Amino acid sequence: MSYPSQQKSFPLPNNRHQARCQKINEMELEIGTISGIEVEALETALSIVSRGTMLEKAKIVIHRIQGKARCEECGHEFALDLPFMPCPLCQSVHVVILQGKESHIKTLKAE
Ligand SMILES: [Zn+2]
Repeated sequence: MSYPSQQKSFPLPNNRHQARCQKINEMELEIGTISGIEVEALETALSIVSRGTMLEKAKIVIHRIQGKARCEECGHEFALDLPFMPCPLCQSVHVVILQGKESHIKTLKAE
């Protein structure tokens, strides 16, 4: 026995989910200062690629995360403006990056 007509009526969860989200009102991004991403270039790119999409009217909020590192030799923590910097106190190159490489979406507010 087969039920070909019933198979056609199965709901499609993905389509229903998309129908609930009409547009994005706000998108928050976290971009680290040593992520290699230029915020101005990113904003320009986003304004171009979002045209005609649900992101078109969204307010884009970009949070800059200051690069930070800790020296493994002396324990000193310092601000990092380049991906590779020696410790400013002891000049050691054995430093661990604590933050600043982020490049992700923090929140999306949708309708
Ligand atoms: Zn040090």
